[in-house]
Amino acid sequence: MLTNAPRGTKDIYGSYMNTWKKLENTVNEICTNFGFNEIRTPIFEHTELFQRGVGETTDIVQKEMYSFTDKGKRNITLKPEGTAGVVRAYLERKMYADAQPTKLFYLTPAFRYERPQAGRYRQFHQFGVELFGSDKPTADAEVISLAANLLKNLGINNVELHINSLGGPECRKKYNTILKEFLSENIDSLCPTCKERYEKNPLRILDCKNESCHALLKDAPFAKDNLGTECKEHFEELLSLLDAMGIEYVVDPWIVRGLDYYTRTVFEFISNDIGAQGTVCGGGRYDKLVEECGGAPTPAVGLAAGIERLIMTMEAANGPDEYKPECDIYLGYVGENAKKTTFALVNELRKNDIYAETDLMNRSVKAQMKYANKIGSKYSTIIGDNELEENSVIIKNMETREQTNLTIKEIVKFMKQNLQ
Ligand code: ATP
Ligand code: MG
Repeated sequence: MLTNAPRGTKDIYGSYMNTWKKLENTVNEICTNFGFNEIRTPIFEHTELFQRGVGETTDIVQKEMYSFTDKGKRNITLKPEGTAGVVRAYLERKMYADAQPTKLFYLTPAFRYERPQAGRYRQFHQFGVELFGSDKPTADAEVISLAANLLKNLGINNVELHINSLGGPECRKKYNTILKEFLSENIDSLCPTCKERYEKNPLRILDCKNESCHALLKDAPFAKDNLGTECKEHFEELLSLLDAMGIEYVVDPWIVRGLDYYTRTVFEFISNDIGAQGTVCGGGRYDKLVEECGGAPTPAVGLAAGIERLIMTMEAANGPDEYKPECDIYLGYVGENAKKTTFALVNELRKNDIYAETDLMNRSVKAQMKYANKIGSKYSTIIGDNELEENSVIIKNMETREQTNLTIKEIVKFMKQNLQ
């Protein structure tokens, strides 16, 4: 137990961490260019927030939450996704009182008690954006284009944007009735989950991965073909904006998304490179969510992407990122006096943004030079009593073997000049 991490978790380090950091940098860059500001909400919230904000009928709330009672007898849940906490903060911090829209992004751990498998963990991480205050298709277009740009800049090209519209609450109600009617003769053949969905949220039957349920849906009516005029126009304008930006998509009537709160636009970016869990990013419009969480009616659109799945896709396309910074200079030393001078010098070099290393192992001179080679140092030197006495050191260029005589004070300047 002691040396086994809990099931479904992973340690992030090495080349994986390199790819992770590249992703974070790209996220920060793109969100800045799109005018989205970062928000960090707590890792845990009141359980009720997720019951409301994610929805009682979802897999997440029914089966997957890490919930516990704290010492003060409060019902607490580790966040299973990023949106609910952001909505809570939007309301609690009265961000609606600022000039709208409010545009936020987050990078956060998320926790779901699921069966671990490739691309599915119990602690995973999400990137997401939320745009509050606009019900216009321009807002949907902005969020989708942000995702398209992000994927492109991450080098993820083998990915398709699937987009659909579920319509507003009116259309959804009407469509649910149509779908129920269509399935009414085959209720008994539905899987137990879909039987429940049939009563509570029929739309989500389209999401069922079960072969037999899928077969029943062969000629099913689709939400996008049953939209009211306004919802239809909204969807058409969004598609025309995507066309104008040169963002390719397929209208896919099977995209319904797992969470209850979606209205109108839903979309997924699906990768062809990473097998079954191919959705790297999903999102849509949720005009009812803020109200559901206790706020005034506020339109919103957003997306979430699993970081681990993005990285899987990046690595499938470009391989692991083995980048290691090369050491600029290794400063070896012999003796107690030289040790102090060397440490002061190493510190000075580092303050000048130079990557310097020295001995922490009490190695012999020969072993120190071997180590300098191993870490790929561009320059090296050895400081001993002689060098101190004569205030003269030899700096060796490890590649050309060229040697330069310098006073100790001159080393920083020499390195700054030669590293350009
Ligand atoms: P799935 O159908 O794969 O279970 P979901 O509908 O539960 O996905 P969302 O709730 O929309 O997914 O979460 C957004 C994104 O977070 C997903 O597209 C996926 O990339 C990622 N994700 C979801 N659950 C996990 C998990 N257990 N481990 C790793 N990534 C996950
Ligand atoms: Mg899931």
